[in-house]
Amino acid sequence: MVYRAEYLWIDGSEPTKEIRSKTKVLADGEQPGIWGYDGSSTNQAAGNNSDVVLEPVFQCPDPLRGGNNILVMCETQLTGTLAPHPSNTRRGAREAYERYSNQEPIFGMEQEYTLLDRTTGWPAGFPPNGFPAPQGPYYCGVGAVKIHGRELIERHTSACIDAGLAISGTNAEVMPGQWEFQIGPIDTLSIGDQMWVARYLLYRLAEEFGVEVSLDAKPMKGDWNGAGMHTNFSTKAMREAFEPIINACEALGADGVPERHIAGYGVGIEDRLTGAHETERFDQFSYGFSDRGASIRIPWQVVQNGKGYIEDRRPNANADPYVVAALMTDTICAILA
Ligand code: ADP
Ligand code: MN
Ligand code: MN
Ligand code: MN
Repeated sequence: MVYRAEYLWIDGSEPTKEIRSKTKVLADGEQPGIWGYDGSSTNQAAGNNSDVVLEPVFQCPDPLRGGNNILVMCETQLTGTLAPHPSNTRRGAREAYERYSNQEPIFGMEQEYTLLDRTTGWPAGFPPNGFPAPQGPYYCGVGAVKIHGRELIERHTSACIDAGLAISGTNAEVMPGQWEFQIGPIDTLSIGDQMWVARYLLYRLAEEFGVEVSLDAKPMKGDWNGAGMHTNFSTKAMREAFEPIINACEALGADGVPERHIAGYGVGIEDRLTGAHETERFDQFSYGFSDRGASIRIPWQVVQNGKGYIEDRRPNANADPYVVAALMTDTICAILA
């Protein structure tokens, strides 16, 4: 019996990269090997030298096709040298993890997103020609007036579990049609692999519901929080004592560091990090206990326990998890070393 491998990779779309995929039918017992695609159609190559190489790096069961079908996450490489393609951000995460794996860095990312009506582009649950009641009742809400899209969210959670991903929870968010799922806690490299596969599963399932999944950081202007990808982080030392937690916050606030991180935290971050919506302003840095208005929150439970992790509230929903994971690992592990 043949089976199917869905090859996944990250493209070169500007300003925000997207996930792409295509199917390879394999003979029984055949392993998914190196493959390639037309990079001139993904903003990754010129037409006269268009091949980009796919190197399988992470695989898991395909929960949508079932059986022995699989999903295969790939790194992109240049033909000839097989050097990482310039758009290959996974390589940076891999190098950061190789540098600091002895500190056992782990991540939990909270992916927020918005479901949009595919034809109108209006968020699910918004009245056709107007606005719903303001932010307040929707977060973790229940009931047909407040909640839109739950069937898709449930299907997605099941798919992530069946794929063996480390999905740790979901919740309805502060705007109608806005949701969140969390992946983690897992290491610097796995968080990116699993987050991109989880995004793929969400887009793929949303096809069946005829809705568009948007990772736009500010899909609706005005008095809505926008969509982030809060990133929770710890090292072994942070999980054992409080001082490394403070040191990690100080490292993130050191001269020049906030600017460098903000630059890697997703497109349109100025529109989301205004300071008015449960975040610090994009051009200021702060950390605090239980403070959802800070750049970095040290959760209440962590203060209670005197150890644990920190939450970087700045990354956008549209951030690349490989880039965020590499930045945080390098910045924090360098000073804890
Ligand atoms: P919030 O209260 O900010 O909404 P969530 O419950 O949505 O928090 O997400 C918390 C995330 O933190 C989860 O993904 C969880 O796996 C992760 N997490 C828990 N402990 C740690 C840890 N020690 N290091 C890194 N991440 C952690
Ligand atoms: Mn959350
Ligand atoms: Mn949230
Ligand atoms: Mn959070």
